[in-house]
Amino acid sequence: MHDTQQTIVTDQPVFDVTEIRKQFPILHQEVNGRPLVYFDNAATTQKPLAVIQALDHYYEHDNANIHRGIHTLAERATAAFEQTRRTVKSFINAAEAEEVIFTKGTTDGINLVATAYGRKFIQAGDEVIISAMEHHSNIVPWQMLCEEKQGILKVIPVDENGELLLDQFEQLLTDRTKIVSLVYASNSLGTINPVKKVIDMAHQAGAVVLIDGAQATAHLDIDVQKLNCDFFVFSSHKIFGPTGTGILYGKRRLLEKMPPYQGGGEMIKNVSFEKTTYNDIPYKFEAGTPNIADVVAMREAINFIQQTGKPAIATHEQQLLAYATSALENIPGLKIIGRAKEKVSVVSLIIDGIFHFDIGQMLDARGIAIRTGHHCTQPLMEQYGIEGTARASFSVYNTMEEVDNLIEGLHRIIKMMKR
Ligand code: PMP
Repeated sequence: MHDTQQTIVTDQPVFDVTEIRKQFPILHQEVNGRPLVYFDNAATTQKPLAVIQALDHYYEHDNANIHRGIHTLAERATAAFEQTRRTVKSFINAAEAEEVIFTKGTTDGINLVATAYGRKFIQAGDEVIISAMEHHSNIVPWQMLCEEKQGILKVIPVDENGELLLDQFEQLLTDRTKIVSLVYASNSLGTINPVKKVIDMAHQAGAVVLIDGAQATAHLDIDVQKLNCDFFVFSSHKIFGPTGTGILYGKRRLLEKMPPYQGGGEMIKNVSFEKTTYNDIPYKFEAGTPNIADVVAMREAINFIQQTGKPAIATHEQQLLAYATSALENIPGLKIIGRAKEKVSVVSLIIDGIFHFDIGQMLDARGIAIRTGHHCTQPLMEQYGIEGTARASFSVYNTMEEVDNLIEGLHRIIKMMKR
């Protein structure tokens, strides 16, 4: 197992999935006449009742704008909002709550760093390194930055199995490397990258490191101090929380050196037409009224993960992954894309002669939700010579019977298409 992953090694059930499923109302419905099988968790996870109720509770009892008000509701809303910041701080083990910045999500966090840190610290000829398995949101902001500042974007290659070529990374590092931005777990392959090693190597070269934790945070133990990453970003909606909010963690020393990302209310200390002084972190990076209700409800998502236990969640998902992988390997004409040794619970596949989109549509007719396409990783798909894959991604509430359903569905699709 990966160095930061605390998975319990067992093939026995680690919890009662039926009890877990009771907490997710959306799962209890039929789609196209069949019980819903939700295998699109890498795109977004479903929300437990506690999250849904927290949203209701906030709007029914506490709704007010935060930080500036002195009335009771404003104080309650502010306290709930700031409580989430402290919860996130311990969830990712940041040194201080002030290093936790609320964003719209992973994409927003990466853009914030590319803009605020990148524009200030990248000069012509400086280098930014990403990998060949990045999501578009960890490619395009760096491309934009490099275009603007005449920087150089370099790419760590990925092998046939979907693993990073670390020796080539070492060769890419130079004294002009200023930023390394790497995905922790790939959304299209499932690969868990050796981020700690990459961070240490980048630091040796004098670069700062951003880790895209969008696909890792629901599955792996995240300790930003142990990792020693400079920035870490993730989205609430992929960890059982609401859409429209997420986290940027940054080391205080770096956040303080960065100019604001956006100007407006909340991020200032004092404004005059001649000169504005900026607020301290984290508020310097939180211009305007934030997504208060969703931030408040995100706390319940983290509580859900902690009560269920990340090691137990990871074990359950690894059991589903192993079971699905061995069943898929026995389907003639089916190829799994992404065979890294360390994977989160994502299986991407292609089938000879059947377009991935058709696989998705035919599975949907059986009530099974998967994702098809390039998964916002077009350069990676190009490397593998494919247009896209059909991707099933498993979560805490999925069952072995649901995997059986998927396998049976795929067998039927192949039979039908080959007729
Ligand atoms: N990075 C990775 C690895 C992702 O999987 C995703 C979402 N698919 C993102 C970044 C972007 O996340 P968001 O759309 O929530 O900003």
